Amino acid sequence: MSQAAVSEDVVREQKSDAEIAGELPKLLAKLREAHRRKGPPDEAERLRWLSRIERLMLSNKERIADAISADFGSRSRHETMIAEIFVTVSYIRYVKENLRHWMEPERRHVAFTFFPARNEVLYQPLGVVGIISPWNYPMQLAMAPLVCAMSAGNRALIKPSELTPRTSELLAELLASQFADDEVAVVTGGPEVGQAFSRLPFDHLVFTGSTAVGRHVMRAAADNLVPCTLELGGKSPALIAPDFPIDTAAERIIGGKLFNSGQTCIAPDYVLVKEEQVDELVASLKAHAARMYPTLVSNPDYTSIVHPRHKARLEKHLAEAAEKGAKLVPLNPAGESFEGSPKLEPCLVLGATDEMSVMQDEIFGPVLPILPYKDFGDALDHVNDRPRPLALYVFSHDERTVQRTLRDTTSGGVSVNDTMVHFAQDDMPFGGVGASGMGHYHGREGFEALSKKKPVFYQARVNGTALLRPPFGKTIDTAMRFLLGK
Ligand code: NAD
Repeated sequence: MSQAAVSEDVVREQKSDAEIAGELPKLLAKLREAHRRKGPPDEAERLRWLSRIERLMLSNKERIADAISADFGSRSRHETMIAEIFVTVSYIRYVKENLRHWMEPERRHVAFTFFPARNEVLYQPLGVVGIISPWNYPMQLAMAPLVCAMSAGNRALIKPSELTPRTSELLAELLASQFADDEVAVVTGGPEVGQAFSRLPFDHLVFTGSTAVGRHVMRAAADNLVPCTLELGGKSPALIAPDFPIDTAAERIIGGKLFNSGQTCIAPDYVLVKEEQVDELVASLKAHAARMYPTLVSNPDYTSIVHPRHKARLEKHLAEAAEKGAKLVPLNPAGESFEGSPKLEPCLVLGATDEMSVMQDEIFGPVLPILPYKDFGDALDHVNDRPRPLALYVFSHDERTVQRTLRDTTSGGVSVNDTMVHFAQDDMPFGGVGASGMGHYHGREGFEALSKKKPVFYQARVNGTALLRPPFGKTIDTAMRFLLGK
């Protein structure tokens, strides 16, 4: 049905990153030209676009699971079905249900001084949106921004991660099978392509990735004044208040931590727990990890670390922490050896300090430091002394403790008494704050972020604005006295 996307040629011909980078302006020009020539798509066209994405996700779910698993070494098929396919399809269905309402012009109030004019806000497509996506949920994190972009009537150019090459290639192939290359195109490649991509004069750029690369992206985008949505990372804390059952908190925290082997932007990075409850928490975390993952190395539910470089990074954190005096508690119920495996032995870290890299960098793996606090206020101070996290998890049945935590901390989002599930709420915005990102997608906010909210004032045939033009006379003086006082 559609032409083969240029990106497909790029993949097939195995061009160098420099060559791909050189072709980017042409790809963008083609998308932009189509936007200008064809004008903003109506609701029916947008629904067709969204249905095509939904269909390609559903009818290729096994291929997607296989590609991601091959890229990771092994990725739990269930994790892919839940976090890549279900989350994306559920979001598409929600957008389709709400799109008509979102697209409607909004009537706004007109002050009596401008009566009887009319005010309206129109939601207009921006044009062409650039999307840079990471490897950890390589389908969902490319598709969800695309759903936002297309629901808002935009065309898109996507650059997925080079660390998941099979999935990136499949993404290009699937989108090329459903869309013309002047609707959506995919370019593959590494940082060199990413750098050239972020220098393009898009109408908006959605970047999902690390805070460090986010800084480069925003700097590059600034040259063309391209507005950015930055979906970044950081250290997301889990706070257990003393009133909450430790066993329940442990189950929900370790479940969130070990999903995708901790390679999740909103995985609980570390836990703050009252000092008297550390031992009980460690025992519960061990018990729940053993129940969920009785074995690890050959267990299809336990996902590999995406790349040897990342495994080495995590091992370095652990070795350094141990060397500086932390105690490592492996969560390895069958006592398996991980040597030669792409998986990492999950591990708790006790006695971690700020001098250790495990407490400085986002962990992004199955390693969980447990930090004791004396007073719950100290736990809140710990969070507030550090960069604003992407997610925060508070465990308490005491309403005052929950409200105090919500009021006194600033984070991208919160799950109360659980981990990670706020991400999957279709009707809620998602995005970081400060070092964890800027802007939002998901929810209605995703549609709005990639639309121009255009305020339009419709002047009435009969109106009083002649008063605002010279020569100014007594009438305007009287009106100003009435409005402003003497
Ligand atoms: P990354 O920042 O290394 O790479 C992300 C993307 O940017 C890749 O496609 C990469 O090729 C590209 N890139 C690399 N250098 C670039 C440059 N100089 N200019 C432009 N693009 C460049 O991130 P990653 O390792 O793929 O993903 C992990 C990070 O992403 C973690 O920090 C995680 O927290 C974060 N993340 C955030 C969210 C979120 O929704 N906030 C979701 C998933 C992951």
